[in-house]
Amino acid sequence: MQDKMGFAGHAGPFPGKIMFINRLFAAVLHVLWPTSCPVCGRLGEVLCTDCAASLFLLSPLPRCLRCGGMFPCLRHPGAPRIRSASIYNGKIKSVILALKYGGFRTVGQRLGMAMAPLWERPDADLLLPVPLHRGSSRGYNQALEIARGLGRGWGMETLDAAQWARRVPRRAGLSQEERRALAHDAFVIPSRLRGLRVALVDDVCTTGTTLTRLAAACENAGVSVAGAYTAAGVVERLKNGVPCSDNIPSERSVPGGDRKF
Ligand SMILES: [Zn+2]
Ligand SMILES: [Zn+2]
Repeated sequence: MQDKMGFAGHAGPFPGKIMFINRLFAAVLHVLWPTSCPVCGRLGEVLCTDCAASLFLLSPLPRCLRCGGMFPCLRHPGAPRIRSASIYNGKIKSVILALKYGGFRTVGQRLGMAMAPLWERPDADLLLPVPLHRGSSRGYNQALEIARGLGRGWGMETLDAAQWARRVPRRAGLSQEERRALAHDAFVIPSRLRGLRVALVDDVCTTGTTLTRLAAACENAGVSVAGAYTAAGVVERLKNGVPCSDNIPSERSVPGGDRKF
């Protein structure tokens, strides 16, 4: 479209030719390195710049890292918080499902790098991702991939050192109540982390239970916790500042919701 001065935008005198060359380049790149943006499908990019920029327009309120309730928490004054970059919906949900179920491993680091500028670098020695479930067939830990991206952005080390104490049901298939029933000793923290300060990382904060249990395990092991960071958070209904499951659909109740990829 031409403006009042008669200039044809910023595309230059050969916009069609340049677009053709760009598309040809993307197609060649796709053959050499087959990938595409999981949001818009653009070839040759793990998560394109335009989509990355539009992922974090709506973020949920922070939550208490001791109970998963609202922050600041009346029951746990001074507790660290869980921060989520976006409400778990729309584009960010597509990206996370591609990362978790589409074998799209590389999008995790890209996502983490896009998240890093949203917050100041935490006052911590390292990033500690929620570990991959025992027996998972995924082959990689999606929280670790996001943490690596955040670590690159913040200039911090990431250590996949926490472990699940035992096999637990896959979280994605559980109701909100079942998620909260997670045992208090669900995680094991290696003794070499004693005395360090960590920031936790996960892909999605649903009830907050996984992160509250991991934070408690850290503190029981002499590891202090600066806070937790997730790519997306599910907005829960609160009763007296505490999350409740009234009328909140679990992923299981959304038709095809958790198995898009
Ligand atoms: Zn895109
Ligand atoms: Zn609390």
